[in-house]
Amino acid sequence: MRTEEIQRVTCCVIGCGPAGAMLGLMLAREGVDVLVIEKHADFLRDFRGDTLHPSTMEIMDELGLAEGLLDLEHTKAPKIEARFPGGTVTVADLRRLKTRYPYITFMPQWDFLDYVTGEAKRYPNFRLKMEAEARDLILEDDIVRGVRYETPEGPREARALLTVAADGRSSPFREQAGLKMVRTSPPIDVLWFRLSRREGDPEDTFGYAGGGRFMVVINRGEYWQIAYAIRKGEYQNVRAAGLEAFRRSVGDTIPDLADRTGELHDWDAVKLLSVQADRLRRWHRPGLLCIGDAAHAMSPVGGVGINLAIADAVAAANILARPLRAGRVSSGDLAAVQLRRELPTRAIQAFQSVAQRRVVSSLLGPEGAPSLPAPARALLRLRPVRDLPARIIAFGIWPEHVRYREPSAKSGRTQLARKESVK
Ligand SMILES: Cc1cc2nc3c(=O)[nH]c(=O)nc-3n(C[C@H](O)[C@H](O)[C@H](O)COP(=O)(O)OP(=O)(O)OC[C@H]3O[C@@H](n4cnc5c(N)ncnc54)[C@H](O)[C@@H]3O)c2cc1C
Repeated sequence: MRTEEIQRVTCCVIGCGPAGAMLGLMLAREGVDVLVIEKHADFLRDFRGDTLHPSTMEIMDELGLAEGLLDLEHTKAPKIEARFPGGTVTVADLRRLKTRYPYITFMPQWDFLDYVTGEAKRYPNFRLKMEAEARDLILEDDIVRGVRYETPEGPREARALLTVAADGRSSPFREQAGLKMVRTSPPIDVLWFRLSRREGDPEDTFGYAGGGRFMVVINRGEYWQIAYAIRKGEYQNVRAAGLEAFRRSVGDTIPDLADRTGELHDWDAVKLLSVQADRLRRWHRPGLLCIGDAAHAMSPVGGVGINLAIADAVAAANILARPLRAGRVSSGDLAAVQLRRELPTRAIQAFQSVAQRRVVSSLLGPEGAPSLPAPARALLRLRPVRDLPARIIAFGIWPEHVRYREPSAKSGRTQLARKESVK
């Protein structure tokens, strides 16, 4: 390979999803030379995690970026309710939480990523290479020294002190690095589709259950984004029953939207998310760290995937910026990132597993309950428990905070970057 095709960087991040984009921004902000490579030409991907929870909004606030982010088009959900034929149950009311952002912010993931990378590009030590697909880790003396990737101009190499796999839940680099997975078998899959919003429609985001079905209906401004839960592996049966039966089941469960199910013209309008939940035993090996979905794919229950991916990025930047600047990253530094993030991730996965098995599964199928199961209803009425789902959805178990915060939310540059530019 010619020398101009080999790039030398301190940190190479594979994948510019929420984890990779935030890590790139935060490392650049802390003066680390970082290259992020993304296989797609843009961020346009529908039905991805579009939910920014209070934990993420507080991080954006600490970076001085919350105001700019909220200038972009978004909707807010201050509470999550479940509607049953027998009545409505408040599952999580975020308005009772102590935070400047007591709501879930819904924003297309591509807008969020455009915004974050736009901010990152203001730092000269941040580089983003689109249409760059990582293929193989460069392993020398049992240490990961970077990655080989393909571009429209031909093959390239990035040689790095640290390579971070933030390439999502199908990351091949875990296997290349010999990192072992612990897999679980979630009992559900999710079908995603959208229906138009019309004048007079409700404003809120709801869960609807009834007739053995469970759906979450999210207000996305001009349209409703709908998650339709099915038992794992049932997708072929749903398709075999035909589109008309599918439309009818949507209208029966959400009578408010029955008048527009005809907008589902064909099965292309319905996307299957095969729900996956797993985690790596070890998130790292010398020269390599995995974060976000690449380290732990999350179930969509509670919509926490993006927020955990971002928390990983914040923890990784807080712990690794200094060793990266010093040009020495030890296994202990990498283990510290896992140590900090593994427990909160496992706790949330356990919470999701209980919610899937005890609540969502019990609502599906012919025996589906006409209301939330009685023990769950009783629990949600107890004062100490009442705010627990909201707290877990909002902040997770161990929220991360930015090490060097913006003194004022309006200033564009950070304390650290300012200090360094004065040097
Ligand atoms: C249908 C669906 C709905 C979801 N809904 C929600 C939700 O409502 N709320 C929520 O919080 N989470 C949700 N999630 C999960 C959420 O999207 C993920 O948890 C989150 O995006 C993980 O972020 P990440 O950065 O780790 O990985 P990803 O978002 O998967 O990003 C990985 C990036 O790496 C790039 N990439 C992959 N391979 C390579 C390669 N070889 N070279 C270069 N680039 C590469 C990809 O193109 C992508 O941009 C949903 C996921 C799906 C699939």
